[in-house]
Amino acid sequence: MQAKPQLYGLPAYKPGKPISEVKQELGLDQVIKLASNENPYGSSEKAKQAIIDAVLNSAIYPDGYSTLLRTKVSEYLGVDGEQLIFGNGTDEVIQFLCRAFLTPKDNTVMANPTFSQYKLNAVIEGAEVREVPLTEVGEHDLEEMLNQIDEHTKIVWICNPNNPSGNYITKEAFESFLKKVPEHVIVASDEAYIEYTIAEDYPDNIPLLEQFPNLVILRTFSKAYGLASLRIGYGVASKELIQVMEPLRPAFNTTTYAHAAAAAAIEDQEFVLHSAKKNRVELEKFESFCQEHSLFYYPSQTNFILIDVGIPGDEIFSYLLSKGYITRSGEALGFPTCIRISIGTEKENQGVLQALSQLLEERTTISKS
Ligand SMILES: *Cc1c(COP(=O)(O)O)cnc(C)c1O
Repeated sequence: MQAKPQLYGLPAYKPGKPISEVKQELGLDQVIKLASNENPYGSSEKAKQAIIDAVLNSAIYPDGYSTLLRTKVSEYLGVDGEQLIFGNGTDEVIQFLCRAFLTPKDNTVMANPTFSQYKLNAVIEGAEVREVPLTEVGEHDLEEMLNQIDEHTKIVWICNPNNPSGNYITKEAFESFLKKVPEHVIVASDEAYIEYTIAEDYPDNIPLLEQFPNLVILRTFSKAYGLASLRIGYGVASKELIQVMEPLRPAFNTTTYAHAAAAAAIEDQEFVLHSAKKNRVELEKFESFCQEHSLFYYPSQTNFILIDVGIPGDEIFSYLLSKGYITRSGEALGFPTCIRISIGTEKENQGVLQALSQLLEERTTISKS
């Protein structure tokens, strides 16, 4: 028995501990998960109702072409339906891209640290992964990424805003980059957090699709739309690019519930806007906290914040966990002295910041004694 050799070095995805397990282990009544950047306000009521209504059709295979959702998304974005591909989460669209374009003869360029799925899927296809370190302030080094591109490069990944640093790339910087990328290279712009961005110069890349047949835009319903459990995301690109990926999409990869919920959710922009507004108010509390405690943080356009506490990330993680907050240690994310915290509700944020401030106090008491 011999699988593809590259599979033997790969660790399986380690999911965060489920809340129920953490509660039992630590004897806590309440455990709050601020680890996966989900929407703390849930999802649109209309989306919830759509899921309930869809239950009646549970015995029937979903519409493999996601016709209803395709129509809604194409109307919302102002693109043709044939320019869309739907995945079981954006994760699956990333998989489609890698499977369609990467072979062991190719390479792919990405930032480091960035979203882990690009590298994972590229490695599985046996492609060479060229990682370009983020700048000191957590931004993509677009110039060096361009330098890394050669005739064997197939895909370059741009995570905008970047997970886990939260930084964004401006419209001007992205367009200038795109113009310099050779036509044979796909530029994948992962915009999972677009709904949370407030920067005036954050780009709207949809109009660029007409001009750049090598551009793919990735979006998801898992974050601001609050539908992470349903696994639905999509890619937008030229018809030619989508057409080449369609045959490798499993026939029924997205569910009836996901179609119904996402179609309702995209019509309820009020919910998304409301979530994004509250997120910004709460995010600013984290920024103030960091300023008060002289902690470096990465400027975020998302619903999470990466904070440098100056001690091992696993230690910060364990301390916060002992207080009932599940977060993400920077050690697993490439920022060894950082903690990544998803922005929760007002009460959740108050709690996690209080815990963080206790940790800082305990550290100073220890270092003084
Ligand atoms: C969460 C996330 C996704 C989307 O994940 P889904 O598979 O759609 O749940 C994609 N890219 C980034 C950068 C993310 O953080």
